[in-house]
Amino acid sequence: MSEGQPALKTLPAIIIGGGQAGVSLSYCLKMHHVDHLILERDRPFADWHHRRWESFAMNTPNWMNVLPGEQQSFAPKATRNAYGTLSDAYTYFDKYFRAVNPPLRLEEVEHVGINRDGSWEVATNAQTYQAENVIVCTGHAGRPLIPEMAKQLPSSVQQLHSSEYKSPDEITKGNVLIVGSGASGVQICEELAASGHFVNVWIAGSGNFTFPWNVLGISTYKLLRWLGAFKLTRESWMGRIMFPKLLRKGDAATPPSPRQLARSYGVRRPGRALAADNAAVHCRGGDVPTDDLTVVWCTGFRATYDFLDVYLQEGILDHEGRPIHRRGVAVGQPGLYFVGLRFQHTFVSQDIYGVGQDAAYVAEHIARRHAVATKSGVNSFSRRTETRIKQ
Ligand SMILES: Cc1cc2nc3c(=O)[nH]c(=O)nc-3n(C[C@H](O)[C@H](O)[C@H](O)COP(=O)(O)OP(=O)(O)OC[C@H]3O[C@@H](n4cnc5c(N)ncnc54)[C@H](O)[C@@H]3O)c2cc1C
Repeated sequence: MSEGQPALKTLPAIIIGGGQAGVSLSYCLKMHHVDHLILERDRPFADWHHRRWESFAMNTPNWMNVLPGEQQSFAPKATRNAYGTLSDAYTYFDKYFRAVNPPLRLEEVEHVGINRDGSWEVATNAQTYQAENVIVCTGHAGRPLIPEMAKQLPSSVQQLHSSEYKSPDEITKGNVLIVGSGASGVQICEELAASGHFVNVWIAGSGNFTFPWNVLGISTYKLLRWLGAFKLTRESWMGRIMFPKLLRKGDAATPPSPRQLARSYGVRRPGRALAADNAAVHCRGGDVPTDDLTVVWCTGFRATYDFLDVYLQEGILDHEGRPIHRRGVAVGQPGLYFVGLRFQHTFVSQDIYGVGQDAAYVAEHIARRHAVATKSGVNSFSRRTETRIKQ
């Protein structure tokens, strides 16, 4: 929309972010006939386009890569148990996007505030919108996390985060240290070690659990599904014990384990990285010298909500900056929702496999809220109106 054009009427819902969470939610809102708009700062499914390396292999088998509205995986039956490439992922998301055909504008949300009548004001780099409901779908990987020790390394050390890494050609030094042995760390480490371009390859462990592809010949994901792990909710007694611990850790890694990398490629395992200085990265099991060194930080991400009004952030985010919510419905802030959070409701909420059920739940909540608001007049989100919407 060009500059100077008037702001739109109050929309029932504005979705911030056009990744798998935002597009899935758009599909679910369409099913409820709730008018809405996605605001995306880059391009749909931007994360998959910008933050994966060329040899990336999906961590989830094809049968798990199904978004709402689809009956089955995009992959042919014969490859349902295989793991897709980055190109498979692009094809899949592109096809899904075209099928859903969501109302989307390429604008960056800069500020979200609440109006006195309880409706929302969403300001982008292009204009300001009013909305009854705002759904934050900006992903759980907003900001790359790099430990403070990185600042102590001399400028001669090349440093990059996993989200910037594309291929071994970008590594300019003869030795490489991968810090972090989660799914990204081990995949990148294997690619670098297999390239044969480096004198030394080290992987500093992060202590993430590596679960095997198969247990007694049965696919681990199938076994987990069969055991009901995918249905384990945050609210269950086991979820209440496990999920807070899991939230503080990185995601479980997929093979190869650092031990397998050592066996197959001679990768060295110095243990957890503890500190760094001019001379070395000091790890629990020894030092990695900074001579001719590149460090690839595979140390994860942190979600960010900087665009939320500071006053709102205080009530909505906990002391670790995570949203306080019930199944994606913000606690204490009617009309604000989240989709795509880690362990939002179940073990698989952050995955392609699990985002659909969270989107469906949030869409239903919004549809009810919208129906009540429409009956009682838009912009009159009184306390009474809210109590009529069953949480
Ligand atoms: C390296 C890696 C590998 C993964 N592999 C798998 C896998 O194999 N299988 C699987 O099921 N899951 C996988 N995941 C987990 C998950 O599927 C992805 O993280 C997925 O991208 C999350 O989708 P999302 O829509 O929640 O967030 P994102 O994909 O991060 O989408 C958020 C969108 O919001 C936009 N945005 C952010 N801020 C603003 C703003 N202020 N205004 C407007 N737009 C904004 C961004 O541009 C982005 O497009 C992986 C995750 C990572 C990090």
